[in-house]
Amino acid sequence: MKRTVRGALCALLPILCLLLMSCAKAQPSSASFEAMDTLMTLKVYGGDPDTCEKLQSRIEALDALLDATDENSEIFRLNTEKTAAVSADTDALLRDALALCDKLGGSFDITVYPAVQAWGFLSGDYRVPDDGELQTLADHIDWRGVKSDSGAYTVPEDAAVDLGAVAKGYAADRAADILRQSGAEAAVLNLGGTVRMYGKKPDGSRFAVGVADPESPAATFGTLSCDEGVVATSGGYERYFELDGRRYIHILDPKTAKPVDNGVLSVTVVTDSGTTADALSTALFVMGLDKATEYYRHNDGFGFILLTDDDNLYLTENLAGDFTLNTDKTYTVNTIRKAL
Ligand code: AMP
Ligand code: MG
Repeated sequence: MKRTVRGALCALLPILCLLLMSCAKAQPSSASFEAMDTLMTLKVYGGDPDTCEKLQSRIEALDALLDATDENSEIFRLNTEKTAAVSADTDALLRDALALCDKLGGSFDITVYPAVQAWGFLSGDYRVPDDGELQTLADHIDWRGVKSDSGAYTVPEDAAVDLGAVAKGYAADRAADILRQSGAEAAVLNLGGTVRMYGKKPDGSRFAVGVADPESPAATFGTLSCDEGVVATSGGYERYFELDGRRYIHILDPKTAKPVDNGVLSVTVVTDSGTTADALSTALFVMGLDKATEYYRHNDGFGFILLTDDDNLYLTENLAGDFTLNTDKTYTVNTIRKAL
């Protein structure tokens, strides 16, 4: 009898070991750190044991290259010296960002930097420039003035570039390269407003991404259920100041050099590429509801959720089955259809 029990245990042992190993594997490794002016959290299932460290150092290295306010960054050097040779990463992102400026027709422009500076969004010394100053600033916003020649870039004398609207998205794409190389099974990389989902979760469930509530950004107003891809949100609540009862936000209209004031509170974009998701969320915010709707009707491969200050929530039809509201607040939910 005893021998039978021992025999059965011996037979079960490999199965038990396998079960324990699969449980251990299902536990993700994680990291949390500050980069690109925001808190980032990484959760990785499977892959090499040092994947999180590799992801963190890749993102920090990109931050060091791209941060326009850092005197040692390549973008700072380009903005001050006006002509500079740049690394492969800065070159790739500048190239993608300029193509997006072209595609997004005036709502997205990486040469808004002097205007962002003039409003005090970088120093925290907030001010409202007068009309004359705004006109001069607006006259100098034009991405077409940025020229490239085999890895070297030139910006006009009165212009400067700011990759703040796309840096997190680009970092999310490069992070995905590392996940692929490390053999990771799945990952959720929350790069502060830009969330990259990778692979398939060990339990087979879809990823769930909370969308920040613009009125209390630490909470969410809804959840998006999604597969591999990127969810990026642009919100006025992320950086703003108030003066004489008016709120001035950090997202500027390139045509006027003024903070956007079109009733939009936030835009969340779902698509495959991080750089595109990040640029699109900023651009659709600037466009406002009507132009964003038009853009959706004429372009494929993405969906968006747009919240307005009159408690309306607009959702493109391709996301309708993936979004669940989870707030006590009442929103009027409107579906944006591809075809009228
Ligand atoms: P995001 O939070 O991704 O929407 O990016 C906003 C940041 O991008 C701002 O803090 C500015 O540095 C910069 N920015 C503001 N307005 C624009 C714009 N219209 N096009 C490109 N970059 C912008
Ligand atoms: Mg953006």
